[in-house]
Amino acid sequence: MENGFVDCHCHISAHEFEEDFEDVILRTREAGVKTLVAVTEEVGEFARVLQLQESYPDLVAPCFGIHPLQAAEGPQQRSVKPQDLDAALPHFYNHKERLVAVGEIGLDFTPWCAPTQQDRDDQVIVFIKQLNIAKELDLPVNVHSRSAARVTIETMKEQGISRALLHNFAGKPSVALEGVKAGYLFSFPPAVCRSKQRYKLIKQIPLEHICLETDSPALGLHQHVRNEPANIILPCRYIADVKGLPPETVRLVTAHNAYRLFPKAKTR
Ligand SMILES: [Zn+2]
Repeated sequence: MENGFVDCHCHISAHEFEEDFEDVILRTREAGVKTLVAVTEEVGEFARVLQLQESYPDLVAPCFGIHPLQAAEGPQQRSVKPQDLDAALPHFYNHKERLVAVGEIGLDFTPWCAPTQQDRDDQVIVFIKQLNIAKELDLPVNVHSRSAARVTIETMKEQGISRALLHNFAGKPSVALEGVKAGYLFSFPPAVCRSKQRYKLIKQIPLEHICLETDSPALGLHQHVRNEPANIILPCRYIADVKGLPPETVRLVTAHNAYRLFPKAKTR
């Protein structure tokens, strides 16, 4: 199992994949991806991700989470409210055996996404509640953090979180190293290949704290082209380049890190 890639953060239940799902999965397998850690953003996606796990039990590892931004990409996108979590709560408990993590959860303080203090406070409330669900269910967390690097890591530390993946982290290296000290892992998608700023960050994070992800269908190499799990080779090669290591080493070590963080993804 450790001879393949683990995509530690992807949105395989997204509607962008509905039309040619079988082909996407075929290319995923051909690329050597063994596990898709499938995060969700809102309660409406929960049933779909469970259904995908039933269809592809050896591949799809489901996570439930309420994202800090609701209504995905569209113009209706808004900061999360505590009531968004209410409808989701029973599902975490009803399906806890099948979940490999709680996510995608986190904080997004990008000014146009969370313009008011009330928005940011509500995000923190929803984040902390889900961190506590993760602790209660003994699950790791799969975390989004944008324009909120320090407060995300501080909040997790305050809540006693020891098992966390910070996906597509773009904070300062000094803040990332605080996360490393707390035992957290960091995953990077194909989009890192077009960001100079991440070079320094990846250079400083020890490989033992790095995982691979695609964040499909977003964060591909080209901004407006649908991304898919088969592209996992791109961040692998990029990280190998930054670290001066063969891509095989990055694949092996990151897969090992991933299964250490998400043990239920391995034993399925
Ligand atoms: Zn995501």
